[in-house]
Amino acid sequence: MWGGRRFETSLGRALGPGENYAESWEICDHGADQSVVCRGPLAGATLGELVAGDGLELLGRNHPRSRFPLIAKFLDARQTLSVQVHPNDAQAARLNPPDSGKTETWIVLEAEAEALVYAGLKPGVDRPTLESAVREGRCADCLHSFHPQAGDCVFLPAGTVHSLGAGLLAAEIQQSSDTTFRLFDWNRLGLDGKPRPLHIEQGLKAVNYETGRINPQLAQAADRAGASRLVACDKFVLDRLTFDAPREIGGDDRCHILIILEGSLLVEGDPALTPMSRGGTALLPACLGRVRLIPQKRVIALDAFLPD
Ligand SMILES: [Zn+2]
Repeated sequence: MWGGRRFETSLGRALGPGENYAESWEICDHGADQSVVCRGPLAGATLGELVAGDGLELLGRNHPRSRFPLIAKFLDARQTLSVQVHPNDAQAARLNPPDSGKTETWIVLEAEAEALVYAGLKPGVDRPTLESAVREGRCADCLHSFHPQAGDCVFLPAGTVHSLGAGLLAAEIQQSSDTTFRLFDWNRLGLDGKPRPLHIEQGLKAVNYETGRINPQLAQAADRAGASRLVACDKFVLDRLTFDAPREIGGDDRCHILIILEGSLLVEGDPALTPMSRGGTALLPACLGRVRLIPQKRVIALDAFLPD
């Protein structure tokens, strides 16, 4: 109920009619939700089939996995999302059916001037304080918030209370999980005129009350040229690449998720030689080795991969 049309106006995707396009799942292997190889000899295969049948070629040193461990998405928040929290791995394993925990990170692509990110609790907010605020419809009193800029990266470990505010377009890298506990829906009604279900008990239990305020990540130098490290956690590593001359990626026996934010490039060896531009996403399997990226216009891209 919170999406818009910016996948078309900003990311160049063709959308159908209607005003409500909220999430684009770019790379995904989660149950029936499957990315499909779009071209080449494996065209038509799902990501889940590749993980099961060609896991070593795909995942390299991170093989074997029961499913592809990350999801890459775009999010278009025309309205503010509900206030949510995701469980960690141990909590999610006890669900029926079991799921992964969900640590996630947002990279802001566009931010309207008044847009807000809500991330983490204000100092001193403990469980009783949050619980009474949630039950009294004033959850926002407990939430830390800030006005993000395009380019900001917001890292949200599992257990962090968060909401993406109205007016933001973001890319998201997350653990492959679809478990969300909705704590508060801003006293709104759903599309059917009824309040959407909340998961207050489970949500309050999943909150890590030690997390505190979350502000944009400070980029660190990465261990390779033209790259800055936005996130390094035990679930994924995320670098931002900026380059205007050909460069290589991969060759480290890992797969890489490549998301183009600005400019356009050709991936050497792509049989269709189709340029990738803003909003384009590719999964480069480990077996490709070092892959040469040839920019046509100065490129800003995200490179997400699994840690050891
Ligand atoms: Zn979330």
